[in-house]
Amino acid sequence: MIRSIFSAMLFFIFLLFAPLNGVASADIFHLIIRSGVTQNEIDNINLALNTTSEMIKDYGFVLNERINVVLTSDKEDYKNALIEYFHYSEPLADKEANISAGESSTKAALIIIKGSERLDKYKAEAFRVLPHEIFHQVQRQYGKQKNVPIWFEEGTPEAFRYIAQVRAGITSKEIAFQDPLARLNVYVKLTHNSLPNPETLNEATWRDCMSKKVPVYPLATLMVLHLTVDDFSKIQEVYRLMHENVPWSRAFTEVFDVTPDDFYKDVMEKINFEIEHS
Ligand SMILES: [Zn+2]
Repeated sequence: MIRSIFSAMLFFIFLLFAPLNGVASADIFHLIIRSGVTQNEIDNINLALNTTSEMIKDYGFVLNERINVVLTSDKEDYKNALIEYFHYSEPLADKEANISAGESSTKAALIIIKGSERLDKYKAEAFRVLPHEIFHQVQRQYGKQKNVPIWFEEGTPEAFRYIAQVRAGITSKEIAFQDPLARLNVYVKLTHNSLPNPETLNEATWRDCMSKKVPVYPLATLMVLHLTVDDFSKIQEVYRLMHENVPWSRAFTEVFDVTPDDFYKDVMEKINFEIEHS
């Protein structure tokens, strides 16, 4: 008994301090193509995979596990893959197949992408969901930490997605900023609410935010874009520190040289100004 507790502790300590050894960049992804997928869909997905693979390397992220990306042929095939790989119940898989275009596993290095006519026709469709889900896989490999606010957890994958689009020449940097700003503008004008204080989002899960119709995603995206400006590798530094068990707020302060509270004041002033003048 004591021995097994001791070895469990040793294993835990090993996990805490295990270095991220890394897989070679060419091996970051393994694309699994289901039958019925078109060559265009494969090409578009490969463009998104190549772009994000370069970004992962350039920003200094180190991954230990190769990420499997399952490309399905249509909604029905996507639903079947959700059941097969994620063990979803039939009704859950059916519901998800109607609302999502791709999902990332929280337990394994696995992403499932829904094939569609849009994905066959447009490169941009490959960048709408896949880079976001890939970044969730990066977060997963760096280890789950408590007390990471939702705006950081969801804003970093969204910013990563916009940066991937800019890098692949699908959108311009200006539009990458304008898109989430336009969504916040609609929220402010339609609901006559002011934007939520990021601090009040800290306790919320994304489901809470969705049900209250709080515009978490565009707000989080703008916050991260403002934070990183042109240097997303700072986000990597935060995750690296968190991997070494530094709490989020301390890692944030260390990397950005500002406390989260001071950052919130500053960034909300900027975003509110941008909304007023857009
Ligand atoms: Zn997400």
